[in-house]
Amino acid sequence: MHGRLETRDLPRAYSLLTMLRSGFTLSILLGSGLLAGALACARGDAQTSQPPSKPRADAIMKTDDEWKKILSAEEFHILREKGTERAFTGALYKEKREGKYLCRACGLELFSSQTKYESGSGWPSFYKPAKEGDVAEHRDTTLGMVRTEVTCARCGGHLGHVFEDGPQPTGLRYCINSASLKFEPKE
Ligand SMILES: [Zn+2]
Repeated sequence: MHGRLETRDLPRAYSLLTMLRSGFTLSILLGSGLLAGALACARGDAQTSQPPSKPRADAIMKTDDEWKKILSAEEFHILREKGTERAFTGALYKEKREGKYLCRACGLELFSSQTKYESGSGWPSFYKPAKEGDVAEHRDTTLGMVRTEVTCARCGGHLGHVFEDGPQPTGLRYCINSASLKFEPKE
């Protein structure tokens, strides 16, 4: 397992405390938090800070070598090493056709075109998963931020992050790498 509180994070936490003590206003912190959220998909490679929960009954588990046989180098990096594709470069960012978005690694249906929307972030964005429980959430404290990583609940593939600045009815923004998805247009 990787991802733990690094000692390099401690000075950051300490300086935040100092700012709070010195009366740094909450609104500024909130503002920078939103900005960090909006930019977050673009920032580096995520690592989760907590162990994966117990695998579900239909879990698909493969070794890295097995994944490499069925994924491109970029897909492997993003799905299995928690990489992030550059904003505005993904193949599905501008996809507007009706259809289903499947996990690129295992084929599980994760999102629908009905909940896809233009977030302006540069990554495919959805306000809801296709099915409750098929997109798993994990606390991610890398890069000095607290974010929620989302993965395919069946194969554990990294998808992206979910933020609380999405449209109604959920208010959520699932910010997903194109390379983690496979689009299946409606017949
Ligand atoms: Zn999957």
